[in-house]
Parts: sequence; structure tokens; C-alpha cells
Amino acid sequence: MPADETWTPPPARATRVVVVEDEQSISDPLRSALEREGYGVEVAATGTAGLEAVRRHEPDVVLLDLMLPDMDGRDVCRAIRSSSRVPIIMLTARGLETDRVVGLELGADDYLVKPFGMAELIARIRAVLRRSAPDPAPVEEAIVLGDVRLDPRTRTATRGRDALDLPRREFDLLHVLMANAGTVLPRQRLMDDVWGVDWFGSTKTLDVHVAGLRRRLGDDAHESRYIHTVRGVGFRFSSREELAG
Ligand code: CA
Repeated sequence: MPADETWTPPPARATRVVVVEDEQSISDPLRSALEREGYGVEVAATGTAGLEAVRRHEPDVVLLDLMLPDMDGRDVCRAIRSSSRVPIIMLTARGLETDRVVGLELGADDYLVKPFGMAELIARIRAVLRRSAPDPAPVEEAIVLGDVRLDPRTRTATRGRDALDLPRREFDLLHVLMANAGTVLPRQRLMDDVWGVDWFGSTKTLDVHVAGLRRRLGDDAHESRYIHTVRGVGFRFSSREELAG
């Protein structure tokens, strides 16, 4: 397979951390340690600024001091929880059991008692990130319609006994069409799904790829068995029933 047709994952976004902490003697070393880990860090010195930072930066984790100049950290925690499921680690100077329980009841995910070591903090952050990571995408089953079979897991497609050996975009296009067999897919939807919403090239590209797919499938644009042109709208792959008939 040529190198340009292998699938490349999008670059991973840096994990973003919002630190709500008014004491610079704590937030400065925190920032350095987190940045060394490769995290993007935003420090807010008040509860109000912290809420704004969470809203604006949509962080992956929030480190929240309990004692802030303008607000109680628990109120900040409650306010964040009212609109976000971002993991929150409370930073507290008090080690009292009541504080711990209150923080966790408000929706905090973990807490650390000051002074804490950076290694400990990083370990806790990794733990909450692991717990909040979305479930892996479900394994997609192979789609079989008539004599065409497409397997997303191996990125292979066959018609009868013949391997179709599709270039990447044609495979993606066939995948979208077959996954929605029987339904007309508007041109823009196909462009968005296969080329991405950021793609601003000509939509003629779509026609070129559809033509390529038809050629490989042995399909005829004028008497389509598999891919139907719906004039002024888009394309449709034949339903299971149509192909069975
Ligand atoms: Ca404080």
C-alpha cells in the first residue's frame, strides 16, 4: 500500500489543566511541573477567574484550591459541576476528614492535602484522566450488501471473490455509503464525512471518487446496481433488499 494511503491519526491535543490557586508560591511550581509533563496550563488566582478559565479553555482537568480570596473553593466546585463533567482535584491545606467528604460530595474527583509532591500530583491527574477517558469506539462489524463486503477493521472491501483495493478516500466514501445503504446522502454530508468539514476544495472531487468507486465495482452510472446518483442531492447505495432482488 502506498504511504499516502495509510491512515494517520490526527495529532493528539495537549492535555489542558486549569489551576485555580491564589498563592503564587504554589501555582508557579505547579505550572512548571505540569508544563514539563507536556500539559497546557492556565492559572487563575481567584474563583471568578477560575470559572471563566474553565468556561473558555474547556480543560481536561481542574486543580482547585479550597481557600480562595473571593470564593470558597467548594462553591467554585459546585459551579463548575453545574455545567461540566471535567475532573476536579481539590487542593486543600486542611486535612480534616469533613473537608474531604464535602469536596467529594460536591462532585470533586479527588483531593490532595498541601504540601504535596509533584510526582503524587501527576499520578493523581493521570488517574482521574484515565477514569474520565471516553469508552473506546465500538468495534465496527463488516458490512455486507449483496456481493459487496466492507470490513472497517481491516479496511478491506471485496466484491464477490475480488479484492477492490480501494484508495483511502474511496474506501471511506464506500464505507459511509454502505453504512447508510438505501438512504440518499447529500453531497455536503459526504464531503464532510470523507474529506472533513475543514476541506475547502472543489466538490468535483466527490464525483471523481464516485466514478472511481463505480469503476472498481463494475457499476454503471446510467444503470446503477450499487451507487445511484440522486440528481441535485447526492448519492445512495442500494439497500439490502434491492441487492437481494
Ligand atoms: Ca489559597
